[in-house]
Amino acid sequence: MSASPTAPEPAGRHETAGPVPLVLASRRPAGGRGRPPRHLADLPLAERRAVVAGLGQPPFRASQLSRHFFGRYTDQPEEMSDLPQAARGPLAQALLPRLLTPERELACDGGTTRKTLWRTFDGALVESVLMRYPDRVTMCVSSQAGCGMACPFCATGQAGLTRNLSTAEIVAQVVAGARLLADGEVPGGTGRVSNVVFMGMGEPLANYASVLAAVRRLTEPVPDGMGISQRSVTVSTVGLVPAIARLAAERLSVTLAVSLHAPDDELRDTLVPVNRRWKVAEVLAAAWDYAAATGRRVSIEYALIRDINDQAWRADLLGSLLAGRLAHVNLIPLNPTPGSKWTASRPAAQREFVRRLEARGVPVTVRDTRGREIDGACGQLAASASAPAPTPSPAPAPTPFPAGR
Ligand code: SAH
Repeated sequence: MSASPTAPEPAGRHETAGPVPLVLASRRPAGGRGRPPRHLADLPLAERRAVVAGLGQPPFRASQLSRHFFGRYTDQPEEMSDLPQAARGPLAQALLPRLLTPERELACDGGTTRKTLWRTFDGALVESVLMRYPDRVTMCVSSQAGCGMACPFCATGQAGLTRNLSTAEIVAQVVAGARLLADGEVPGGTGRVSNVVFMGMGEPLANYASVLAAVRRLTEPVPDGMGISQRSVTVSTVGLVPAIARLAAERLSVTLAVSLHAPDDELRDTLVPVNRRWKVAEVLAAAWDYAAATGRRVSIEYALIRDINDQAWRADLLGSLLAGRLAHVNLIPLNPTPGSKWTASRPAAQREFVRRLEARGVPVTVRDTRGREIDGACGQLAASASAPAPTPSPAPAPTPFPAGR
């Protein structure tokens, strides 16, 4: 990437608006012209049965295959000893194509944080991050290759959108982490994926259908899906208001995270350009509707950027917007991204920000910066930096930016 096109000025220059994304919510199907091959994780179990029947196999083989994938984390025919030898190959070929090839793996925190760079069938690059804590294992997954939201402080936002991921491409990231844990390859003994956060590359609600189906696959019990608790899944959004309303109507118990980053429209218009379409008040109204519909506390994400959004008055304004609501603030010390002048807040400013929110009774936590050393922390997933150049995608990306970028 060349220098950040929206290289921010320090305090006071909030009117330097970045480019407004022209395509905010791509309606293109996953893969566009070159769709990823069909995979059982794309389909509800009934449809998997129909595919199996179409191959002349008894439909219960769909459940057997699904157990291998969702319960044993394998897509290898030779590991499926409960299937007749002659049927294994054709079944796996029809429903378990390998969608993601690991390109590079980086680890830190003694091996308990691992970022994987994946290459898709059409050469797109996406990343996922596994984070093991004493009490849980969180997989941070990508929902799109790139992102069209153009937030100037986020590395993914600088490269634009390549394409939506398919449901199975999303689920496969979690299954890969589950396999590592089951095989004891993550320090701390064998384990399971307990949490999934849609906080990797992409805007999940701009790829609504695939993300929703992925949430279903992740949370349905084996053999339909992986059996992760809905309450342990977090969908994070820049604030696509109609999609938040749609998600609320699904009656799921997943946690909604809203990337607010500023309590006032003037600044948020520049930090999260989609704010020019849906203002702070509308985004928060949608969030409170979500909380009312689901009973789930909404997580308000706020990256603290030195002298940009960390002033005491903004903490007070944020506190007044959130006081008394079913909300929790997650402050994220800004992680460095290439070409950006912005940096994390001073410790004193961060402490004061926390104090002012707490003074209004707003629950607040400061997120750890896991994965920073491997560019695996929030906003650092760019996938192109030091990776070999991706082969050109057969389906050219819809350019989310005005010409010339
Ligand atoms: N598009 C979704 C999903 C990405 S989630 C969303 O915006 O919510 C990643 C979270 O990390 C978001 O809250 C995002 O705003 C935040 N983030 C992005 N860049 C960051 C950076 N450089 N430092 C800290 N947080 C960042």
